[in-house]
Amino acid sequence: MITCPVCHSENDNYATVCHKCKAFLQNRIPNLDLFETVWGVVESPRATFHNITLAEHKNYSVFLFTLFGISLSFTGFWYFRLGNRFETLLELMMWALGTGVLVGFGLLLVLPITYHMGAKVLGGKTRFRSSLGLLSYSVVPIAASLFFVLPVELLTFGMYLFTANPHPHTIKPVSYIALLSFDVGVSLWSIVLAVLATSVGHQISLIKAILVVAITMTVLAGVFFLTPKMLRL
Ligand SMILES: [Zn+2]
Repeated sequence: MITCPVCHSENDNYATVCHKCKAFLQNRIPNLDLFETVWGVVESPRATFHNITLAEHKNYSVFLFTLFGISLSFTGFWYFRLGNRFETLLELMMWALGTGVLVGFGLLLVLPITYHMGAKVLGGKTRFRSSLGLLSYSVVPIAASLFFVLPVELLTFGMYLFTANPHPHTIKPVSYIALLSFDVGVSLWSIVLAVLATSVGHQISLIKAILVVAITMTVLAGVFFLTPKMLRL
């Protein structure tokens, strides 16, 4: 709650002017700048998720979600050991990229709605557009790993990153464990951010926010494990 400095009435955390006397409470945020917001998520996540909720346009949400889809697709190609099905690494990368864009758009239809409904059931206050923005900026570490971790993995293992025989672990065990730990760390970071984003944006307790994120992740895991079955891979 924000207390109005003029008339002392209580206002919502995201009000820009007092509902009673129209006094100024906080600046409007018309747009989100990609790099400033991404850096803000790293440096001061609470304040940044406040700004994302306050922003009138949730810029780059779809873009970040698409990067998340591509990252998830590469993870799927790795997890389900699809390397043997492709002639070259370039061919595999093209397929993973194409699948990733589709996965990103597919998840965009399912995940933010699940997340938003989960938050609403637990007393969440913000609108759907904010839910989409909060979720998209929570996956920033995973989206960024596409540029910082995946290239190192591809350069280190090439096609063997995706093959079962030989397994990348047998080729370079130390590098494999190190890079895998990095991926796990990036995912955990995104989960922590999602919990913070939910608590700040929806104005609910951390426990409830954890529950909302857990529900969302269950649906995500369902999509991850069911998609290859549906495609009969
Ligand atoms: Zn007032």
